[in-house]
Amino acid sequence: MAVDGLPDPKRHAICRKCMQWFDRTAGDLIWPPVNGLMSFVRVRAGKIADADKLMQFWCTGCQQRQAERNRKSKISAVIAIAVVAVVGAALWYTGTLAEIMRGFSPR
Ligand SMILES: [Zn+2]
Repeated sequence: MAVDGLPDPKRHAICRKCMQWFDRTAGDLIWPPVNGLMSFVRVRAGKIADADKLMQFWCTGCQQRQAERNRKSKISAVIAIAVVAVVGAALWYTGTLAEIMRGFSPR
C-alpha cells in the first residue's frame, strides 16, 4: 500500500515504476526490465560491475503487473511462431511454397 503523507526516506522507498512511496518491505530492489539495446547494455554492465545502485525499488504490485506482461508477450510470441509454422506447412503441403520460391528465382 502506498504511503500517505510525508514519506520517511529511511523507512520508505519510491517505486521507480509507479513513482509512489511504499514501505521498504512492500517491494524489492530489482534489476530494471530490459526493453531494448540500451537498457540491455546498462543492466548487463551493472550486473558485471556489481553496481547495485543501478537496481531499482519496485513495489510488489508493479512487479506482478510486469511479470504478467512478460508472460502475455511470451504467449503471443509462441502463438505467432505457431501460426507461421502452420501457414508454412500448409503452403508446403499444397505446393504453393515451391511455386512462390520459383517465382523469386530467375528463369
Ligand atoms: Zn509500483
